[in-house]
Amino acid sequence: MGKRVHNFNPGPAALPLSVLEEIKEEFLDFKGTGMSVIEVSHRSKQFEAVLNEAIERTKRLLKLGDDFHVLFIQGGASLQFTMVPMNLAVDGKPVDYIHSGNWANNAIKEAKLIGKDVRVIATSQDKNFSYMPKDFQVDKDASYLHITSNETIRGTQWAQFPKVSVPLVSDMSSDFMSRPFDARPFGLIYAGAQKNVGPSGSAVVIVRKDMIERIPANLPTMFKYTTFAENNSLHNTPACFVIYVINLVLRWLEEKIGGLEAIEKINREKAKFLYDFMDRSGFYRGTAEKESRSFMNIPFRLPTEDLEAKFVAEATKAGFAGLKGHRSVGGCRASIYNATGIDAVKDLVSFMADFQKKAG
Ligand code: PMP
Repeated sequence: MGKRVHNFNPGPAALPLSVLEEIKEEFLDFKGTGMSVIEVSHRSKQFEAVLNEAIERTKRLLKLGDDFHVLFIQGGASLQFTMVPMNLAVDGKPVDYIHSGNWANNAIKEAKLIGKDVRVIATSQDKNFSYMPKDFQVDKDASYLHITSNETIRGTQWAQFPKVSVPLVSDMSSDFMSRPFDARPFGLIYAGAQKNVGPSGSAVVIVRKDMIERIPANLPTMFKYTTFAENNSLHNTPACFVIYVINLVLRWLEEKIGGLEAIEKINREKAKFLYDFMDRSGFYRGTAEKESRSFMNIPFRLPTEDLEAKFVAEATKAGFAGLKGHRSVGGCRASIYNATGIDAVKDLVSFMADFQKKAG
């Protein structure tokens, strides 16, 4: 086997090694079927058991109770940018959005594209999306308020979710399952699986049951949450392998880590270790404002772009993958999702200290 690297990719991203080994172990014979999980019927009892287990784990971890449907919908988080307004915008009521960066912007664009009455009620554009907006007024008649719980590119995160009288909708792609929170104010939560919970190819969508009533009946079948809710995500062939891996990752989270309180503690410790070092360094500069700093994605700059290019190249050679910033903003970024351990972060900090010594 080739050497495994410390993986700081923004997504697809690191998954727990023990999960990857389990996948390998049972790949040729999935649960005694004599077939792999990508060869069995999605309607086999073995696959359905996995699907139901993934749903139950999601509900247990997030303490959802029976008020919510957990759905798996192909098309990634980007399809949810369209499905959310299609399904949840009520005729004659605006849809409110907070514009916190690149991903929020993509959600806003799609809602406008399908002709919804979009109100952008707050933005952090004035300071280059380096913080999460604070003061805003939600129209009490709004169909919902859409937020992006964690902006993957800018490295900003809602420390506390806004308290509003309309249903909250959140894109949680890059901090899903990273911390506990009260799900009850959320009408809908969606997350591309490929950061904290699995491979790419599906979004996890959590929809509060009362939201189902407002879904227009005449939407195309595959664009309607009802189709997925009424058929336990088995209307058509789901992303079986993705769901299978999600279940294993959630099992790891529940049984090995000890749930969301435990993972949040670890996540905060990792981010603090890296940020404390950077703040002391006088060389590495975090770009997000302190109170909005994400504990999942940590973007930073070096004194010059030349040094940044050199840093990424040398880090890659030394076995640290994924440290280049997003192409739209440049610089560097370390994504430290659930499966990236504190050991990886400590090794990265040692590397960064050495690099600074040599360069500075
Ligand atoms: N929202 C956020 C916050 C993201 O980080 C991403 C992907 N990086 C997306 C949406 C888009 O996800 P997908 O590629 O699954 O469509």
